[in-house]
Amino acid sequence: MIHFIGAGPGDPELMTMKGRRLIDEADVIIYAGSLVNPEVLKGAKPGAEIRDSAYMNLDEVMEVMVGAARKGLRVARVHTGDPAIYGAIREQIDRLEEAGIECEVVPGVSSFLATAAVLKKEYTLPGVSQTVIVTRMEGRTPVPEKEKLLDLARHNASMAIFLSVGFMEEMCETLIAGGYPPDTPVAVVYKATWPEQKIVAGSLSDIAAKVKAENIEKTALTVVGGFLGDEYDLSKLYDRNFTTGYRKGEGSA
Ligand code: SAH
Repeated sequence: MIHFIGAGPGDPELMTMKGRRLIDEADVIIYAGSLVNPEVLKGAKPGAEIRDSAYMNLDEVMEVMVGAARKGLRVARVHTGDPAIYGAIREQIDRLEEAGIECEVVPGVSSFLATAAVLKKEYTLPGVSQTVIVTRMEGRTPVPEKEKLLDLARHNASMAIFLSVGFMEEMCETLIAGGYPPDTPVAVVYKATWPEQKIVAGSLSDIAAKVKAENIEKTALTVVGGFLGDEYDLSKLYDRNFTTGYRKGEGSA
């Protein structure tokens, strides 16, 4: 049995109890060493085999996982954040299925949610945006033609941009060209929830220079949108005059 586990954004306490237990019980642990906090592996059994997938290609990862599963060993495949977001798990799951090996996925706290938490912000702010776009810039790996940042920008939705802090200037120019006003607030969070976390705040017109001044080049998430600002509507859910399935609004019949 292979367990794909979301290790969360960094702080080891931000892992699910299930993920933690499966890591502690595993005979073989393969983790994405470039981003997963090694602290999450602290409870591993003394004899557990621990491998860093940063130094392995897909065939090598599969060889270790399939070999261990065939011997009846328990395998923890540990991904950063949540495995469903840029985790490259699909290609692993499909190969396991081909090999007739069972697997399960244990979700984790994605860095885009940890980022909102450290900023104490809500992506779905009433009257501002009810949509979150999770995306990335085209870099060495392509993005489908219909999902170009320029086109996504048109909605002025709350946006979380992964894997792209190396292209801040181009990113901001594209977002403005696509329709966000230049004064749209932006935050860049480096290593959210790690001890070395840094928060850089600004607008689409000045954030690139600020990020450069902080020497942030990787492991950072960029979030963009009016949800970072101070204007919004109060929610209907907690409005004293609004009736919900649980509560009758004041003044309603
Ligand atoms: N599955 C992960 C994302 C992996 S892609 C998740 O759900 O978060 C790697 C990218 O995620 C990084 O380039 C960066 O953009 C972002 N990232 C991962 N951990 C982060 C953290 N602690 N703080 C800020 N960004 C992070």
